[in-house]
Amino acid sequence: MTAARYEGKTTVNVQHLDPQRFLQAYGVDLQVLYPWEGVVEPPFGAAWAILAPGQSTKSHQHQEGETFFVARGEGEMTVDGETVPVRAGSVVFQDPFHEHTLTNTSATEDLMFLTVWWEDRSLWAKKEEKEAAAPAPRRVMVTAAPPTPNGDLHLGHLAGPYLCADFHTRYLRLRGVDAFYACGSDDHCMYVERMGEKLGMTGPEAAAHLVAAIEETLGMAGIAMDVFMHPDASARFEPLVLEFFDRLWRAGKLEAREGPSPYCERCERYLFEADVAGRCPHCGAGVTGNTCESCGGVNDSIDLVEARCTQCGAAPAARRFRRLIFPLSRYGDALGAYLRRTTMNARLRSFCERLIADGLPDVAVSHVSDWGIRVPLEDPDFAGQTLYVWFEMAARYFAYAEHVNEVSGAAAEGYSRFWRSGDASIVQFFGVDNNFYYALLLPALYLAFDAELRLPAAFVTNEFYRLDGQKFSTSRGHAILGRALLAEAPRDAVRFYLAHTCPEHEETSFTRADFEATVERELVWGWQRWLTELAAKVAAECGGTVPATGDWTSEQRWFYRRLEQTVAEAAEAYEAATFSPQRLTRLLSELVRTARRFGKAEDCWRQVPQRSQERRTGLALELLAAKVLAILASPVMPDFAARLWRGLGYEQPLRPGSWEPSPAWVPAGQRLGELGGEYFRTVNGSNDRLAAAAVPS
Ligand SMILES: [Zn+2]
Ligand SMILES: [Zn+2]
Repeated sequence: MTAARYEGKTTVNVQHLDPQRFLQAYGVDLQVLYPWEGVVEPPFGAAWAILAPGQSTKSHQHQEGETFFVARGEGEMTVDGETVPVRAGSVVFQDPFHEHTLTNTSATEDLMFLTVWWEDRSLWAKKEEKEAAAPAPRRVMVTAAPPTPNGDLHLGHLAGPYLCADFHTRYLRLRGVDAFYACGSDDHCMYVERMGEKLGMTGPEAAAHLVAAIEETLGMAGIAMDVFMHPDASARFEPLVLEFFDRLWRAGKLEAREGPSPYCERCERYLFEADVAGRCPHCGAGVTGNTCESCGGVNDSIDLVEARCTQCGAAPAARRFRRLIFPLSRYGDALGAYLRRTTMNARLRSFCERLIADGLPDVAVSHVSDWGIRVPLEDPDFAGQTLYVWFEMAARYFAYAEHVNEVSGAAAEGYSRFWRSGDASIVQFFGVDNNFYYALLLPALYLAFDAELRLPAAFVTNEFYRLDGQKFSTSRGHAILGRALLAEAPRDAVRFYLAHTCPEHEETSFTRADFEATVERELVWGWQRWLTELAAKVAAECGGTVPATGDWTSEQRWFYRRLEQTVAEAAEAYEAATFSPQRLTRLLSELVRTARRFGKAEDCWRQVPQRSQERRTGLALELLAAKVLAILASPVMPDFAARLWRGLGYEQPLRPGSWEPSPAWVPAGQRLGELGGEYFRTVNGSNDRLAAAAVPS
């Protein structure tokens, strides 16, 4: 042995722990060992990692499997929410896509570990298996943001949370879940009182008048809510709001703070919400008080740029008031942890993460006003103040749960049946302009109220829906009221089209011409024609009864598999995490096109008598496709589905729990009803006539 042999790079390759080579990644100091540049590129990567006392690695997940060998120190390893202690000598393995973080629990000593990672696609399925094996909730409360009764609902409202929550609830029922759709009217927001002044009514009169119109429109649209709560008529609502307030106040979770607020000297009133307008302090868009529809940011009215009183146009003065404040800024970490385990789209998640990173604002939860629920404190400073509607909103969802209990035979049980029970879950639908409130303010209020509550498991949001490319505006007459379109077009055609153009991830637009063309192309020429042709074939060849299957061809096996795949894809489109009415309507139309093509190809067996067995199988499969269409379409188009179901000869209506991952035959020998015929009619009209009906009355 000579010294030269050790120095030669080709014989002994060695790296030493070297702080000069550390780089910061995932919140730790890393010295990357493999791949070893110029030496070897193995099918794995490896690095020394050093975590300072009290520090944690960034909580993250990735496609590689990874193992940690702890060399020195002690800490805690958390993988998918489960935490175990580790110390020198411990080895941890985490499967791909499992969220993990390692924390150094020592106050003085570094934690040093070797991390080794490699990609193995066969490990990927583990996460999916784990998710699939997670028990589904037995009971779900689906909610949509309460409509503001400052006007009747236009198509933009319907295309957003109201229809979407209806689709999801009906789907859950088909899957055998006890699903309830709860909503109510937002009577205590200032816009109602101001609308009342325009209509020459008191606030409560205006609320009653407008809420009645809204409920009628929801009914016309086939939006079947189990609970529609009128806050002032509910025996549950106000006591729960007061209980909620009392608990937060006693626990010191609310603070009385004095600060400036806009005040109109001419109108002699404190300005917020509908009473003040200006430009958003975050994005500069024109807004009214408290919320910006453009960026989703919030303001405290006093920070509006170029503020003015909406009643008289004067620039407000700043007056100091003592108000109640919820210190939301303290809940960033707790919210971060909650949001990580909550289902939502990337747009909402990034919005929340950005606001948390920038620092959340503290929020005033009382305002100088006599509209709403009075602040229940003796302190004379709060004598003329009411609770902010978004504070009330937290307890509103407890009240919904209790009203759901009433309609589902569990009246004696409290809201805990949904808010604390391990087999229940809550899914909330709302528009992007409410992002801040549903994803940040309300969860923080719930955490302040009781950290053990089971908060909503999923948020499903929508963007704005436009009319001919422009924002809906009832005051400018640029709107189509839901009732106007529903009065002249079949409601399932309206529901189909609003689903087809649902503003899921970007703004979309309603145009009359596209509505008519889509109904004509997809529903009249697509679905209706296929069903009519199918009915005629079964009548001519099988005397109008469902044939039994016989021998199979390979095309027929393929077609059955396609039906199974369509069912799986439709389930995805209805689930909260992957919710997409747009995708659903396209899947249904594609199912019809595929079935019709299949049917046309199969017709050739009619000419070959020795293939009558296969001919029967083909017809049975086509009828099965019609059954699948009825089931998959029923959450979006309940009228159509019910009629198609009868057309297939079923005497009992389509029941909850009827969803079939592997579709089962329409029973052989079952006599078909009226399978063909007119399900949808062509609608002709013009926007102008409909828009005229949207001018507020
Ligand atoms: Zn803004
Ligand atoms: Zn004024």
